[in-house]
Amino acid sequence: MLIGLTGTPGTGKTSVSKLLEKRRQWKVIYLNDLIKEEHLYTEVDEKRDSVVADMELIRSRLLELTDEMERESASKVVILESHLAHYIADIIIVLRAYPPELIKRLEKRGYSEEKVNENAEAESIDLILAEAFEWCEKVFEVNTTDRTAEETAGDVEKIIDHLLSGKEDELH
Ligand code: ADP
Ligand code: MN
Repeated sequence: MLIGLTGTPGTGKTSVSKLLEKRRQWKVIYLNDLIKEEHLYTEVDEKRDSVVADMELIRSRLLELTDEMERESASKVVILESHLAHYIADIIIVLRAYPPELIKRLEKRGYSEEKVNENAEAESIDLILAEAFEWCEKVFEVNTTDRTAEETAGDVEKIIDHLLSGKEDELH
């Protein structure tokens, strides 16, 4: 089962994924790293210091990878960690943060004022959530505000366990 973990930068996707990898036997694909390592992009946007993802190439590579992972590991859960995950996975968990809190997290990370504002604005208009509803079959929203990363990992864990129990019910 491929489960996407998306959200505006700073909402906690990477922190939560690292915690879940420690706690459970679930596999995590860090999609942004994979895109860079395997050159799964069409162009490099030097002005924005980013790349334009090649969604077709990404989709076919992920099919191979998730197949491999599901065959090799005892776990049937693969988490796709990226702010692009909702374009790919049918089941998606969207991490959210109250914009003033997000601003604090991104400033701490050393983002430029422009990048901080751009992301805070995207979060305040629910941009990724709206896209997720447009693209995905099942959408879960998790608020990270006033929670620790550990608590948020626990919230995400509960959703995935719920999905797993639903899948077992279907088989019985
Ligand atoms: P992303 O991968 O979404 O850009 P990161 O995990 O890299 O986010 O960064 C999120 C930052 O916010 C980390 O420094 C993390 O410790 C902090 N944080 C504060 N509260 C939470 C929370 N409830 N869940 C996840 N991260 C949180
Ligand atoms: Mn990240």
